[in-house]
Formats: sequence, C-alpha cells, structure tokens
Amino acid sequence: MKCPHCSRPVDHEAETCYSCGYSLTLAESVFGRNFVQMNRLHDAAHCLRKPERDALEDIFDQMEMRFPQLLFCVYLGALNDQVRLNELGFWLLNHAEVRGADFARPNENAVLVLIDVNTKQAGISLGYFSEILLPEDEGYRCLQAARPFLVNAAYGQAVATMFRKIGRALSRRARYLKRNPAELEEAIKRRPTVPSVSDSKADDERDNLMIVEGSVVPGRS
Ligand SMILES: [Zn+2]
Repeated sequence: MKCPHCSRPVDHEAETCYSCGYSLTLAESVFGRNFVQMNRLHDAAHCLRKPERDALEDIFDQMEMRFPQLLFCVYLGALNDQVRLNELGFWLLNHAEVRGADFARPNENAVLVLIDVNTKQAGISLGYFSEILLPEDEGYRCLQAARPFLVNAAYGQAVATMFRKIGRALSRRARYLKRNPAELEEAIKRRPTVPSVSDSKADDERDNLMIVEGSVVPGRS
C-alpha cells in the first residue's frame, strides 16, 4: 500500500510509514478514535438530488451483484482544507461500518470513493484485498474519466461514471487473474493480515459521521 500522507510505498505490516512517520494513531488524532457508521452512498455534503441518488443506488446494486465479495461505497463531503482525502479514506476504512454490508464484504474488500465538493477533488481508497484487484493506474483512469463532471459540480454523473469505469476495470482484472493464476497467488501471499485498530475506550461507540462532515479539528482525540 501507499502511505495516505506522503504516498510513498509502505510495507503492509508496518504500523508507521518509515518515510514520514504517518500512522493510524496520527489519523485518529485528527478524525477521532471512535467508530462511525456510513451508508454505501454517503452524501454528507447534501449535493445529490433524489433522482441522482436513486440512479446511483441502482449502480451499487448492480456492482454488488457482479462482485459479491466487494464493498462499494462513496463519501461526498464538504471538507475543510486541513483534511486530505487519502487520510480520510484510510481512517474511514479503519473506522467506518457501512450499513447493510454483510460479513462477506468486510472493509478490506472495500472500494471507497471520496469526493470533496469544496476542492472538487476525488480519490479512491482501497482495502488491502481490493488493492490486488484495482491497480493504481486503473483507479487513476477511473477518476480522470469523472473529472469533467466533477469540475462542473455534476456529482451524480461523476460518481456514476467512476463506478462504471471501476466495474469495467475490475472485470478486466478478474479475467487477467483467471488467465494468470500464479500472479493471483503471489498477490494473495503478499496480502497481509489486517492490522487491528488500536483499542480505544470509544470502540463501542457508534457515531454518525458528524466529525468528518467539515468540522474536523486537528489534535482531537
Ligand atoms: Zn508516509
């Protein structure tokens, strides 16, 4: 995986990035240590209209049928300028429970798209398992395809475009890995055990996503 802070490669087992020292503990000092619940379509920025939400829910349904082990979700937020999308994605993958996701779709199988409506930036955060299935350059192409919609604040279309592209990229990758089983085995061998989230008194707290809805206070813990 890549460090969510400095983007340099990080060994899966490492708890701290050896380049910049970033860690889950640091992410927790910004976003909090408690666990949160989110919807697979989480519009914290309230930027989607009902028809757009309905269309996207349909796309998610189709994606879940096509890829029964993968967890697809999107977080749309109006973030303050201290929040970096990659860091928020990393934290959400470790702290969020997606409503309705069954045990067959744990967070390590997640494809999480994040959009900041203030900067019109988008990012993809992947769980350790889905990382095998969506190489970085593919993810980048999916984001690029949505770029024209993002700059026009057409978020519904942006998300729809991204997930359609992601679906195609995943299908291609699945076909490739089927033809090259050795590569899949290699990737699975490299696949780490998911580091356990640090135990916190707030672990059993179920919160909504208020703290990441634009009022993140650095240093909060
Ligand atoms: Zn780093």
